[in-house]
Amino acid sequence: MDLAAAPPALLHRRHLHVAGDWVDPAEGETVPVENPATGDIIGQVPAGTPADVDRAVAAARAAFPDWAATDPAERAAHLGRLHTALALRAREITRTIALELGAPLKLAGRVQTGLPLTVLRSMVELAADPPAEETIGNSLVVREPVGVVGAITPWNYPLHQVVAKVAPALAAGCTVVLKPSELTPLTAYLLFDAITEAGLPAGVVNLVPGTGPVVGEALAGHPDVDLVSFTGSTATGRRIAHLAADRIARVALELGGKSANLILADADLATAVKAGVGNALLNSGQTCTAWTRMLVHRDRYAEALDLIAAAVAAYRLGDPFDPDTRLGPLVSAAQAERVRGHVDRALADGARLVAGGPGAPLPPRGHFVAPTVLADVHPDSALAQEEVFGPVLAVIPFADTDEAVAIANNSRYGLAGAVWSADEERALAVARRLRTGQVDVNGGAFNPLAPFGGYRQSGLGRELGRYGVEEFTEVKAIQR
Ligand code: NAD
Repeated sequence: MDLAAAPPALLHRRHLHVAGDWVDPAEGETVPVENPATGDIIGQVPAGTPADVDRAVAAARAAFPDWAATDPAERAAHLGRLHTALALRAREITRTIALELGAPLKLAGRVQTGLPLTVLRSMVELAADPPAEETIGNSLVVREPVGVVGAITPWNYPLHQVVAKVAPALAAGCTVVLKPSELTPLTAYLLFDAITEAGLPAGVVNLVPGTGPVVGEALAGHPDVDLVSFTGSTATGRRIAHLAADRIARVALELGGKSANLILADADLATAVKAGVGNALLNSGQTCTAWTRMLVHRDRYAEALDLIAAAVAAYRLGDPFDPDTRLGPLVSAAQAERVRGHVDRALADGARLVAGGPGAPLPPRGHFVAPTVLADVHPDSALAQEEVFGPVLAVIPFADTDEAVAIANNSRYGLAGAVWSADEERALAVARRLRTGQVDVNGGAFNPLAPFGGYRQSGLGRELGRYGVEEFTEVKAIQR
């Protein structure tokens, strides 16, 4: 398939996936799907209803006992077949993510499609090797699947966010009802095409597309859902936790972030700035772990700003299907508007514009925002405190390491961060002081087996690897 070929006029998906079949929704309403690079409507999916959620949860409940009792090696074999079926669709997935999210093709292929395939492969191995039983005195401690999982996912990594929930839940022996983001549901349909082809047992994974306030709330508040696994904004996570609290259901929440990138005085500045800009602008800044606050030692501050401006200038904004494009649009007009509002407010708060901003040139159509760098951002200002979720970098100077750590930890979030220093021991010591779930030292690579999740308002629980599977288990002690 030619990845850059003109997209089909409309992609209509008319069904839900329940109990192993493509089925009609209870009602006929649909949700339009937009191409954010043009503003054109490219498809429609059903607007699910609470009745659809009831049906899907019942299917997941009915499938649970057998799936929970299935031999781990057999569950792993199912996930292996799913990996094969999904890998066969890699190019179609890449193209769909470029279409409905606006991710440039290279990013859509390498990260948006490649990462979930890697995660799914890791879950095949973890499914075959379930958490070990433990003996404590006269107790045998075992882990059992928690039950029916309601998975609610965002649009920014439309396949990865889904796979990071569905695969470990299945590996642990749980059954799942998925509600993908209404902004990027077409990618989830490709996963379910692969699930159908892989022949997973009926009802083990079910799909109900639709809006958050209707399908999301019905799923999060459903009396027969044992665990709600959610990725999205902190505001929605709070609402989901309230809904689950009524029945004391468990929640796993992967929420927002405002991560700090600490560049100490002795760091390799060119490398640190290049990586820092790349991280902040990845996926047009629509990444929960984005290092959106760059903290630079005062002695290197002026030099760093020059390097940042030069790095940002290399990011070409444009058509996601053009191989030279490095930055696509934001996912929606509302998101682009929100991001511009953050920039305007930061300028009013006294930040200094280094690149991009309101006057920067933009493609004529689509929800584009120019990559924007603001310097001298006050650590307490809105730009340093609030998640922007767009291509906007706040640069903040610091005088010494204690001040850098204090600024980094001055956040209600605690998802990720970075430290750069010529002295790795020093960088590691600083990393330990950051109140976040992940820290990368001197550009340490993303590890798909490492626990992923946040402190404070960045969430509850961990995804990926062994920790991600354990999230979907209950612990039982048997005394003898
Ligand atoms: P969002 O909270 O608006 O939506 C996420 C999902 O929740 C969507 O499927 C949406 O339909 C659903 N939803 C919305 N309202 C709901 C409700 N009342 N009840 C139940 N479900 C509801 O978030 P978004 O705009 O799709 O994603 C952007 C946010 O997600 C950012 O804040 C970002 O930081 C966060 N995020 C976090 C992580 C992480 O792993 N920590 C990863 C990606 C995105």
